[in-house]
Amino acid sequence: MPEVPLASCLIGGEWLRLGDRPRSPVHNPSTGEVIAETPLCNASDVDAAVRAAHEAFPAWMDTPPIERARVLFRFRELLLRDFDAITALISREHGKTRPESRGDLQRGLEVVEYATGIPALLMGETLENVARGIDCESLRQPLGVCVGITPFNFPAMVPLWMFPIALACGNTFILKPSEKVPLTAIRLAELLVEAGVPKGVFSVVHGGRDCVDALLTHPRVRAISFVGSTPIARYIYETGTRHGKRVQAAGGAKNYLVIMPDADVSRSVEGITGAAFGCAGERCMAGSTALVVGEAATRILPTLVEATRAMKVGRTDVEAAQPDLGPVITAQHRDRVLSLLAQGESQGARVLADGRGVKVSDAPKGFYVGATIAQPASPTDNILLREEVFGPVLSVLTMDGLDAAIELANRSVYGNGAAIFTRSGKAAREFKHRIKTGMVGINVGVPAAMAYFPFSGWGESFFGDLHVQGREGVAFYTQQKVTTVRWFSDGEGDIWRK
Ligand code: NAD
Repeated sequence: MPEVPLASCLIGGEWLRLGDRPRSPVHNPSTGEVIAETPLCNASDVDAAVRAAHEAFPAWMDTPPIERARVLFRFRELLLRDFDAITALISREHGKTRPESRGDLQRGLEVVEYATGIPALLMGETLENVARGIDCESLRQPLGVCVGITPFNFPAMVPLWMFPIALACGNTFILKPSEKVPLTAIRLAELLVEAGVPKGVFSVVHGGRDCVDALLTHPRVRAISFVGSTPIARYIYETGTRHGKRVQAAGGAKNYLVIMPDADVSRSVEGITGAAFGCAGERCMAGSTALVVGEAATRILPTLVEATRAMKVGRTDVEAAQPDLGPVITAQHRDRVLSLLAQGESQGARVLADGRGVKVSDAPKGFYVGATIAQPASPTDNILLREEVFGPVLSVLTMDGLDAAIELANRSVYGNGAAIFTRSGKAAREFKHRIKTGMVGINVGVPAAMAYFPFSGWGESFFGDLHVQGREGVAFYTQQKVTTVRWFSDGEGDIWRK
């Protein structure tokens, strides 16, 4: 294999090329070619990053919030300056289309903008006279060294959910991005350094389980933010909390889209195809099962199948010809998606739109699966209805009514998101009220996380108490201090009486 670049680490403000560590390949999923390698850091690399972060913490904590915010204002300007180059990089190492990469970065940018308001967000509360002559006040202080462990599917947005708020609150931060997409994370780190973040305040280490375990158990790490699959999220939560860390761990999902008989046909089809096949289905908010209620089966399903068959698959690493759908992340992941589809079919699912044989002539070695719709024979006993496929595969089930649809959706162990397509305000309200998910869409297929609100997964889609982003993000990265104050009077001799 020809020599490819090695992703660097940022530890204590120094860029390090750890050439003697084991490595993991980074692909351009559009072509299948290896474009870089990720070094897998060991416990001593992690220790060096944590020590640097620990040493940098007191000065960063004592930096006035507005000065910390100014670093983020500069960071925002740099993200805007390099917006096109970063989104091209996201498409190259992840495979999502250029518009999807722009969405990835834009959502993250909005968290940076939110975090620049930190002086107001950090304000505490006061109450005079909690007892006679006694006042009480609360304030928020940072925790110390915080860690972010992120998945492959949003190389910019998910890291940006975490570190802008953590840093704005006065913490130091170590990012461990997915070893499959390290290049975007490195670019973000370079821009943060250019924006003036002090040495040691922000570090990047790479790796898999060993590196993560070292972070989870390091005595100087105070808090862990994790986003990834449910089994790993559970492991992170259990291990991190056992070692005394504050942990927020977002996991996988299986999201339902309910299509009512009165739904607008073209808008619903647009919303459903976007939810199911956008980012090639590699989205924790992907719509994975459409529950088609009553006459929607004849009014809407045929148009949905037709639109799915028409979706163009292609390479995303070339700006000129952006397809509807890019590749999935690795050959191994493509094979898993195909295997799940084959199992689903053998368990009785009918394939209504079949993307399996897709060919991309100018990139025959890319990791492609076309948009696919499968119709399991019943709501139970099909692997496609249980497993998070994380590929461009939508299952459809026909339902008698809204009650049955909500009941089925609420049986899921996950609880990330759900959406309804309808013209009825009453149906939408019932759905919003009764559905057991943290994010709800009404005629919106992907009720995506917005910077000002917490990303509120329920069930096995989230382990912890405080979610990422918004005020919960600020609460997660701070601890409160409540001070009770009483001043005594010396009587006539009081200085303030003169
Ligand atoms: P993943 O769980 O495989 O990896 C996530 C992170 O954990 C990576 O940094 C990886 O290096 C690390 N990791 C992997 N195996 C580990 C192990 N055994 N021990 C310790 N660390 C380990 O997830 P992924 O494949 O990168 O991302 C896809 C998953 O993320 C999907 O399940 C998706 O639903 C989920 N996701 C959830 C949200 C959300 O907000 N709920 C958002 C995005 C993605």
